[in-house]
Amino acid sequence: MFWQKEVETIGRKALEELQLKRLNQTVQRAYKNIPFYRDTFSKLNIKPKDITSLKDIQKLPFTTREDLRENYPFGLLAVEREQVVRLHTSSGTTGKPKAIFFTKKDIDQAAELIARCLTMTGIKKDDVLQNMMTYGLFTGALIMHYGAEKVGVLVIPAGPGHTKRQIALMQDFKTTTLHLTPSYALYLADVMNNQGLNPKRDFFLRRAYLGAEPYSEGTRKKIEKFFHIDVYNSYGLSEMNGPGVAFECVEKNGMHLWEDNFIMEIINPETGEELPDGEKGELVLTTLCREAMPILRYRTRDITTVIPGKCKCGRTHRRISRIIGRTDDMFIVRGVNIFPQQIEQVLMGVKGVAQNYQIILESYDQMTVRVEISRDLFDGRIEHLMSLQSEITEKLRSEILVKPKVELLEPGTLPVSEGKATRVIDKRTL
Ligand code: AMP
Ligand code: ZN
Repeated sequence: MFWQKEVETIGRKALEELQLKRLNQTVQRAYKNIPFYRDTFSKLNIKPKDITSLKDIQKLPFTTREDLRENYPFGLLAVEREQVVRLHTSSGTTGKPKAIFFTKKDIDQAAELIARCLTMTGIKKDDVLQNMMTYGLFTGALIMHYGAEKVGVLVIPAGPGHTKRQIALMQDFKTTTLHLTPSYALYLADVMNNQGLNPKRDFFLRRAYLGAEPYSEGTRKKIEKFFHIDVYNSYGLSEMNGPGVAFECVEKNGMHLWEDNFIMEIINPETGEELPDGEKGELVLTTLCREAMPILRYRTRDITTVIPGKCKCGRTHRRISRIIGRTDDMFIVRGVNIFPQQIEQVLMGVKGVAQNYQIILESYDQMTVRVEISRDLFDGRIEHLMSLQSEITEKLRSEILVKPKVELLEPGTLPVSEGKATRVIDKRTL
């Protein structure tokens, strides 16, 4: 099922022609209307007319998150203020936020991309989508909301939290589809479980869209199994509209990134050099259709890889793998580079481990992994917990090559987040 079959299955050559045409327009507009880009172009001694092929994108400057912050609030706006109809900000953890502007056309285009994403998972007008992302300055809920309305789905703008009310809404309005963070999905599962609810028997759920933070394949499986649904990975970032940048189709094997709207590059984050398909690196994105805020070669800091080969669904836009981590999430213990994601992948594969965990970086050579164990294991006995503890320690050591201290906790001990989860506590920098 397609939303816009022609563009979703476009041939490579036609796609690249379209990309080049749109890249030229974007570069012209950025140069003409945004002093920041005019200055960086002149420092690099380039002009928009120097871009004559897609390869030439490498001549363009990168845009970083610091550039967005330094130009806050209006510095990167490419249109008159009167044309802007929406402001979002990005959920950065420190310092000034990043302001992201949309014209009416930008909102409509972002919604079109969501409509493509949802349609490829088989959603229809009679579906009911309960949107459990945060409404407000965060793009996650509103952009999804507009896209789902475009498809004609009934949207319940529930927002996150209020779990009892969520459950009632899901039952009363026969929700078929959830949009939420993986950490909230796991929490919701725990609450339902405690209330003796059985998703297969007591609900009408068919699928969920999970995104906004990294999660492992093991977490997807766990959520699919508990809710009896299909989970589709959804990737986006405010700087590029929010959700709808890349999304999984029914094959659930990587996320199609809409290449008619974004040019993607995968680079070595240290050298900035482009990497071939199949190699892991930092995703760099250039907007091709945005009016209010065109962004060239944005360093997302997200680590992924392009999945080589064609997708069975027939869409030609290349797929990216699950986000492996962020360049700034990575931490180093005993000289080894570690992503929280690797730890999650191990934990989710161990029987008896519940959903919540935390990584404490005690020093440069000592880390502790705090893990909640599942309710049925927590019966006061200690022997089987000790073997679980050594099983986890051993599996983690073989994955990350560092032996962590593992602490087992009673379920419900660790804080639960409604938005993005904080998994790593770095005591070294506190
Ligand atoms: P924000 O701009 O606040 O929407 O945050 C965007 C960031 O959230 C991205 O750059 C990623 O680091 C993260 N993110 C969003 N979706 C996913 C996903 N499906 N998997 C992993 N990380 C994600
Ligand atoms: Zn596909």
